[in-house]
Amino acid sequence: MRFPRVREEDGRMLQGECELCGGDIAAGQEYYLINGQVICEDCLAAYARQYFAAHLCRGGEDTWR
Ligand SMILES: [Zn+2]
Repeated sequence: MRFPRVREEDGRMLQGECELCGGDIAAGQEYYLINGQVICEDCLAAYARQYFAAHLCRGGEDTWR
């Protein structure tokens, strides 16, 4: 991981950081771990859009798939 995390001595994560917006993710806050990347809830839509960008199609152009 390329960002520092604050951990308890027993290895529990106290605070993390979203890899898209850089926002703090506090203990108890939910987040997504996708392919090893930490993504906060607010960034999930942006991440998904980026992830599936190659699958974006436009109606009426060429043929429907
Ligand atoms: Zn985020």
